[in-house]
Amino acid sequence: MGGMIGQRRRAGELEVQARWFAGEFGREFEGTSGERIRVVQFGVWNRSAGPDFADAAVELDGVGIFRGAIEIDMDVRDWEAHGHSQNREYDGVVLHVFFERGPKRLFTRTNSHRSVPQVHLTDGHQGGSVVAPMAHPGRCARLLEKMNLDALQLELREAAALRFRRRTHHLQRVAEVHGETEALFQGVAAAMGYPGNQLPFRLLAQRLPLKRLMEAPDDIEALMFGVAGFLPVPDLFGYSAEARRYVRNLWERWWGHRDSHSALVLSPQVWRLGLQRPANHPMRRLGALVQMLRQWKVFSRLAGARQWRQVQSLLGGLTHPFWSHHYTFRSVGLEHPLCLLGRERFEEILINVLLPMSGDWEALLLLRAPEQNSRSRIAAARVLGRRADVRGLLSQAVCQQGVLQLYEDFCCRDASDCVRCPYPEQAQARCDSV
Ligand code: SF4
Repeated sequence: MGGMIGQRRRAGELEVQARWFAGEFGREFEGTSGERIRVVQFGVWNRSAGPDFADAAVELDGVGIFRGAIEIDMDVRDWEAHGHSQNREYDGVVLHVFFERGPKRLFTRTNSHRSVPQVHLTDGHQGGSVVAPMAHPGRCARLLEKMNLDALQLELREAAALRFRRRTHHLQRVAEVHGETEALFQGVAAAMGYPGNQLPFRLLAQRLPLKRLMEAPDDIEALMFGVAGFLPVPDLFGYSAEARRYVRNLWERWWGHRDSHSALVLSPQVWRLGLQRPANHPMRRLGALVQMLRQWKVFSRLAGARQWRQVQSLLGGLTHPFWSHHYTFRSVGLEHPLCLLGRERFEEILINVLLPMSGDWEALLLLRAPEQNSRSRIAAARVLGRRADVRGLLSQAVCQQGVLQLYEDFCCRDASDCVRCPYPEQAQARCDSV
């Protein structure tokens, strides 16, 4: 019964979100403190964990425009009941919208104790059915929708080239400071954390440089899991016999390093756990990175020789006695082994690290795009709008990279709902000059 009520409530929430995103409630409101609030841009619909709409912009009369997220709840009390006030994911919320306000006045506060402006919608707005997309086409989409295919491919290719140069430059800067091998390791580690855990993976590679790890080859795994903060206490309650054996072994090896590395251990707050598919859990990814390190010589030799197919088969063939069968320490063992480092991860490493590091732009031009994720779908919806050939365009890695670059350079910085974004005029000028 409770489940059904929960489902109905969830359906009602989705309906309200769809109506909000379609602009049905309008964009100008009086906040619960009497302030005038204008939604400058509705942002993009976040279909995973975290606030409902990201990259929105809200104008508070007389105060300014604030870029951030919008959370929509059926009841103002849901903010506390769902733990948003303790959750750092909700620190960036700039507007809390709700239907029910309860018997007494409740304020919305973030984990950092910031007060969030509130909008109370009325019941009269509910009903009907709306199917809303994840993002609305932007002002530039009107131009790009009409552009001929060759011109558009050129436009996206230029954006992708800029992205590629920036990546190369970034990796070169790391190499100047830490050396090429460490730059490769840091880049690969960060790519293993995508999406959501690039930072802790990068920190891990910085705190445990390859050189130090290679000095204790038998302890690499224990060091990585220990410094990641994944071995806090040897509490093995609820673990399977296999997991116990594995974790005990890690613990015994970590024990000898624990004191000397205690200052390096990552705080649990830097990890985003539970946002991804189970197979992409950071513990599992860390297990895969450890196995990569065991093949590092071969891997870096193949990468240095730009032998991308061989790199793919090396990474695709990696297995791990525990992580090939488990998502986390506590998960039930899988009947059939699961690929440790699949095609998607290889492509992420290839596009973001190996190609820019080796300057192999030509290989990117020939590459098929990785499967679309929500970010690339949103970027395409914003920039390319309803072009009939979007799928075909985005099947080329270079075009996908170009769309992502435009989205990050313009959409992610805009707080005017496209009005003051310079991109449409820049693209038009390039079009006119051809
Ligand atoms: S912000 Fe700029 S680039 Fe993004 S959709 Fe609007 S006009 Fe296009």
